[in-house]
Amino acid sequence: MIKAIVGANWGDEGKGKITDMLAQESDIVIRFQGGSNAGHTIINNYGRFAMHLLPSGVFSQHTVNIIGNGVALNIPYFIKELNSLTEQGVPKPNIMVSDRAQILMPYHVALDTYEEERLAGKSFGSTRSGIAPFYSDKYAKIGFQVSELFGDMDELKEKCERICTLKNVMLVHLYHKDPLNADEIFNTLMEYKEMIAPYVADTGLYLHQAIKEGKKILLEGQLGTLKDPDHGIYPMVTSSSPLAAYGAIGAGIPPYEINEITTVAKAYSSAVGAGAFVSEIFGDEADELRRRGGDKGEFGATTGRPRRVGWFDAVASRYGCRIQGSTEVALTVLDVLGYLDEIPICVGYEIDGEVVKDFPVTYKLEKAKPVLKTLPGWKCDIRGIKKYEDLPAECRNYIETIEAELGVPVTMVSNGPGRDEIIMRK
Ligand code: GDP
Repeated sequence: MIKAIVGANWGDEGKGKITDMLAQESDIVIRFQGGSNAGHTIINNYGRFAMHLLPSGVFSQHTVNIIGNGVALNIPYFIKELNSLTEQGVPKPNIMVSDRAQILMPYHVALDTYEEERLAGKSFGSTRSGIAPFYSDKYAKIGFQVSELFGDMDELKEKCERICTLKNVMLVHLYHKDPLNADEIFNTLMEYKEMIAPYVADTGLYLHQAIKEGKKILLEGQLGTLKDPDHGIYPMVTSSSPLAAYGAIGAGIPPYEINEITTVAKAYSSAVGAGAFVSEIFGDEADELRRRGGDKGEFGATTGRPRRVGWFDAVASRYGCRIQGSTEVALTVLDVLGYLDEIPICVGYEIDGEVVKDFPVTYKLEKAKPVLKTLPGWKCDIRGIKKYEDLPAECRNYIETIEAELGVPVTMVSNGPGRDEIIMRK
């Protein structure tokens, strides 16, 4: 049985918490795309962790955690994150890295940074983790696959030379920086080889066997639908697909084996980086939601940047669920809204005087104004409640209104950041 846990929106919906929780009953957790560019916060019996690259099953000792072939593998970051877990008292997790994953190089980070600086006010709001240059190189066939570290060294040296020739044109002439040196790149790769060797495996083959044995497998997505390069708010998107469908490619499994798609949606909206955000709020109203949001306010886990916040966007979330192919929804961070007398949700977009219900392409999205519907607040703290029937009527009304808008059953309601703060509805 394979279940994908993915985001409906711009990311930061609380996928890490849901994955950590479900990992307790799973055999394998796989990261299938992205890299260390987006973070998630996990709070469990070991403490509070800001995780970026490792799968969220690392806290569960019986779970095998896999970095799939679709991931942007920053090797020093991988080792650092692994060490930080054991330093905080978490037993050494069981981890495998796909031999087909590609390596994020220091020059990817440098190029990402230089390009954001060059674009200045028109930048993409990149986390400068090297993700866009990494995936560009992968598809331009000048990336390094982990397996190449264990292949022919002469070929690898020759490839380092080739890459320098290409990259140095941009580095020297566009960014006015020092050129790369092929020997240095090769030496870095040799250091990486030593660091990663104990974890490398043919994870596709391992998963093939695990599926045959009926193992419980989770695919853990990063970011959300609206950051997908094809279906998101292009060009303000990420560089790999955060869709459940991509889980098949980024993990190396058959698409028909993914039979459950749990889409995580937050009870209000938040986004990092630039791009249209129709239900965004500003000023004091936004500051208050930002301060109260998440487990410690809505500030980026990677950059510490304040996140943009807004009301629940039913148009974007319904689209987010549709593109993911959601079979169920986990609605998170609902407890945060307990301070509001009334809670608006965005149920339509007004574009050029017309109200639309379907999420449009970017140029139309930029003109969209939110059509809001206001629901009564419940004005109390819902943390600690374990049964759906025990939630205040206004709170159930809020959940059921969202459920009707999404057209997908809300089977889990998260009413606190902790692992056990969850209300199951099925
Ligand atoms: P992810 O990238 O989708 O895993 O999401 P993040 O971890 O970046 O953002 C979610 C934030 O909300 C984190 O700070 C979580 O600790 C927090 N969180 C998750 N679920 C809940 C919840 O039900 N209530 C509250 N108050 N915080 C939550």
